[in-house]
Amino acid sequence: MKYFLDKYLKKTNFDFILTIDCEGYNFDKNLKNNVLNLESLLKLNSENNIYTLLFITPYFAQMLKEVNLIEKIKNNYKVIFGLHIHPNNLPEEIEKHCTFIKSDEDLLSYYSYDQQKLIIKYCYEYILKLGIEPIQAFRGGYFSIDDNTTKILNELTDIKYESHNVYRPEYKVIKNELTPLSVYAQNETEELRLEYFNTKKLSEMLQKGIDENKKLFGITHSYLLDPNDLHYKRDNIKPNIHERMKILIDIINKNR
Ligand SMILES: [Zn+2]
Repeated sequence: MKYFLDKYLKKTNFDFILTIDCEGYNFDKNLKNNVLNLESLLKLNSENNIYTLLFITPYFAQMLKEVNLIEKIKNNYKVIFGLHIHPNNLPEEIEKHCTFIKSDEDLLSYYSYDQQKLIIKYCYEYILKLGIEPIQAFRGGYFSIDDNTTKILNELTDIKYESHNVYRPEYKVIKNELTPLSVYAQNETEELRLEYFNTKKLSEMLQKGIDENKKLFGITHSYLLDPNDLHYKRDNIKPNIHERMKILIDIINKNR
């Protein structure tokens, strides 16, 4: 398989990729509207020569299919696909193969090698079958990943990369069988996350990474794609992620 990221990572200049955790119903009671607002963000990024790496859960893939977006985003925008898993939020079709899953357990690394293998296999096959391909990268829900996860992904799938905040305690990888594309972060909480900080702080983090001439992997979440989503009010986030992305794009373009 040819990996876009192989070539991309060899470039010597700084660059920015926006990664999005494309969640399911555990975080998102407004899934359809959020999915329907994905395209405008992909368009904004693509027009500015920025790739968007989508980490997709089975439920999100199902909704993308339902609104006929899979082929469209593949053909029209600069997108890369990745797999995202929250083990306690899976469609019945996958769950029935993994009866050991505990509904109150959020972390993939809680499970044994053999259990993770089943979870990963059925999730990977599920989104692949819907037309999400090629799948190049992996991100665990709550950044949960361990050595078993990387080993399984290497053995069982075409996935070559993993992308997490390595400072989080949930990141338990020691012997990595994948290549890291780590989220740009200073520590456990200070990561280049579109919705976390005010725009001044966010801009300063980006500029720091640009000055270090790094490949910068930013992060955001699909439940914020709809500018009217309840998360904005609940968590007092403004401006919205589309507007925040525009601010970052201005900085990126000035430095290119
Ligand atoms: Zn998630």
